[in-house]
Amino acid sequence: MMLEGKTVIITGASSGIGAASAKLFARNGANLVLGARRGELLEKVARIVREEGGHVIVEAGDVRDAGYAARLVERAEHEFGGLDAAFNNAGTTGALGPIAEMEAGNWHEVLATNLTSAFHCAQSQVPALKRRGGGSIVFTSSFVGYTAGLPGMGAYAAAKAGLIGLSQVLAVEHGADGIRVNALLPGGTKTEMAGNDPEYHEFVAGLHALKRMAEPEEIARAALFLVSDQSSFATGSAMIVDGGHSVSKF
Ligand code: NAD
Repeated sequence: MMLEGKTVIITGASSGIGAASAKLFARNGANLVLGARRGELLEKVARIVREEGGHVIVEAGDVRDAGYAARLVERAEHEFGGLDAAFNNAGTTGALGPIAEMEAGNWHEVLATNLTSAFHCAQSQVPALKRRGGGSIVFTSSFVGYTAGLPGMGAYAAAKAGLIGLSQVLAVEHGADGIRVNALLPGGTKTEMAGNDPEYHEFVAGLHALKRMAEPEEIARAALFLVSDQSSFATGSAMIVDGGHSVSKF
């Protein structure tokens, strides 16, 4: 029960890593505020959490909208009396292709979803965590843009690398407030984002030392560590959970 009595926001909770985290955090005693665009899928995750006795509310919306981050915090404070942590996890690769040929609109959309959303989250979440006397913020970054430059993923890499810089600055700006801020860097993970082409999965698996992709639940366990007090001395870190992708050179 690593999150007993704690209220946690999770974005991107309708599928993949976010949905797995919702189930795991609830089993660890958290009150949850789940966000993503697809309300029906969010409700499905919430039903599973409730069936297991968990406390959860959902608020569908788009993380590109500044008001949405504020709404999630308002719901947490109104329904559960405060906010203790946030797993800001929603993300998209956008359309893949070389930077020299990329539509500017795609660049802006990928930056808005993955990085500017984090700015909006921080602006709403930091004051709420201060009201609570501290807490933990986690952003889902990626091995892409940190230990690997994958062709076709320039906008995504730039956004995910940006999250690491943002985490570091927030960590030093709010360490004295008892607020920890960390980036989580998963390796290739079997979610909607990775598609379901077996050949592509085999190729991605081969890039990792463990010669497989992660299950979303394995990344959720790392998120639980960062969100909970188990990581009480970790802040400003870029935590790699990549199955050895970054150290595998053959
Ligand atoms: P996923 O596609 O299953 O989940 C993405 C989630 O983000 C979904 O809930 C989706 O609805 C939500 N989302 C996307 N755009 C949104 C928007 N504009 N507003 C609100 N919600 C939005 O994939 P996933 O792998 O679980 O992705 C979770 C995070 O992990 C992402 O930030 C992704 O970049 C990151 N990541 C994934 C991998 C991987 O290999 N799957 C590797 C490293 C990092």
